[in-house]
This record gives sequence, C-alpha cells and structure tokens, in this order.
Amino acid sequence: MLSGDQFFSAEARVAQVAERLTNCDLCPRNCGVNRSSGEKGICQGGALPKIFAYHPHWGEEFLLSGKRGSGTIFFSGCNMKCVYCQNYEISQEGKGREITIEHLRNIMLFLEQAGCHNVNLVTPTHFAPQIFSAVLLAQKRGLTIPIVYNTVGYERVEILREWRGLVDIYLPDMRYASGESSERYSGVADYPEVNQQAVLEMYRQVGEVDVVNGVAEKGLIIRILLLPGLEDEARTTLTFIANEISRKVFISLMRQYRPLFRAFEFPELSRTISDAKYRELVQFARRLGLENLILQ
Ligand code: SF4
Repeated sequence: MLSGDQFFSAEARVAQVAERLTNCDLCPRNCGVNRSSGEKGICQGGALPKIFAYHPHWGEEFLLSGKRGSGTIFFSGCNMKCVYCQNYEISQEGKGREITIEHLRNIMLFLEQAGCHNVNLVTPTHFAPQIFSAVLLAQKRGLTIPIVYNTVGYERVEILREWRGLVDIYLPDMRYASGESSERYSGVADYPEVNQQAVLEMYRQVGEVDVVNGVAEKGLIIRILLLPGLEDEARTTLTFIANEISRKVFISLMRQYRPLFRAFEFPELSRTISDAKYRELVQFARRLGLENLILQ
C-alpha cells in the first residue's frame, strides 16, 4: 500500500510503462506492435484488459486462500505458449471479455468487500500497466488488501522494477531450467535465464514471506509445477533457489499436472506425475535445506 509521494511516483511510473503499448515491449517477446491502435502481438492482448472471470478462490495455496478465499482475477491471453497449458481456453484460446480500467477497479473493490484476503492477478504480465492503473484507482477508493502478481515468470526485469511498491506478493512459476525444454514446450528458448533474473528482482522487492494469522501479507512464493520427464530440471531450479535466493523462500511444489491441450502431441508429457517422483523431489528439496515447502 502506497502513500503520499510514493503514490504519485507510482502513478507516473505506471503511465510511463503504459506508453510502451504503442510499440509493445512489455515482456521479453518484444513484439513491437501498436496495441493502442488495435494491433496484437503474441499474447493477443490489446489496449484494454481482457478478463475471463473473477471470484473468491480456495484452490490456491492456503497462505493465499486462507479461510475467506483469494480474490482471483483471471486475465485472458499469455506471453507463453505452453503446449500443456492447464488453463488453455483462457490463455491460449482467448476466452474472456475486454473491460475498462474503471470496471477492473470496481472488481478489485468488490473482491475486498467480499472478504477476500488479497487481489490475485492471474497472468497479468501483458496487461500490467492497465492493471496497475486500476490498482491505484482502487487504492484511492480505499482498497487495502495485498496485491498478488501471479505469473508464469517470463518477465523483463526493467519492467518489473517499475512495479516496486505496487506488488505485495510475487507468485512466479519457475518452469524450466533448460532452454531446450522451454523452447520445445513453451516456444521461448531464453526462459531459464530470463526467469531466474525476474525472480531475483521479485525477491529484491518483496523478500521473505510475512504471514499474519496464517495468511501471507507480503513476500515471494515460488511455484514449481513438476512436469513429467523434467524432474532433473526441477532439481536444478531448487538448487538455484537454495544457492542464489534463500533457503527460507516459500516454494510450492505442485504435482497436479494433467496432460491437457496439445500435451498428447508429446508422448513424454502424456502422463501424470507418480507419487514416487514427487516424493523424491520433496526429499531433494529438504536435503538442500529449503525450509518452507508447500506440498500439494
Ligand atoms: S506483452 Fe504481448 S504484445 Fe507485448 S511484447 Fe509481450 S507478447 Fe508481445
């Protein structure tokens, strides 16, 4: 939550980033399209935010959902093209509707009034300046709950820096540790290095998780979705977190992968994660001294 000068400097930063929509380089894709005049890049995002749904959600980690739910807003489109996307109708097929920034502000206020513990922005990267315009408008009208930036983690550090003070909880994925895999399954060869730098910047901004009455109010929570055949990459990622970030970081080890969307085109992705593989990963993380594992 910002106040005084911080608030006005945040407004200026958000407005400056919004100007980049005319030659869009909001994310590492660098499409260069003029979204303000209706052109669309890889993410399919236009000038206005496009959402699929919003509601209190109890399916997130307990630290976010708590007893009253996480105030989730699902944005349509995505800057990644994951062949196994678990939300492909929203992220890849673009289901949803465009809304104004004032409407988005009202949704955030509604979620707070509904008792949600936070506003949880799902896949926000390609609409970030529009979203933070709405956040600032909502805060002017009294929004106080934490803002959660729930991202696949393919982000530009230069842009993330502009969100300092506006995000309370960063919730990034760390999907791959090799460019070969990220290219094959998500169409981006530079994901590992881009993602690692992005997560380091997020940690610089918000640090360790603060928990109040069982619910996170601030900090970094990293999600690792265990993908079949990529167990070694998950181990590399855990080692990176332990050595380069902190052994105290909260890490959600997700085993709910199901073959969906185009996953059946890849035989190695056409299965689920066995209990044994998941247990091995958990044991590996514990041996690294990672203290705050969220198991699912
Ligand atoms: S936000 Fe969308 S249009 Fe802009 S660079 Fe990224 S993928 Fe391209």
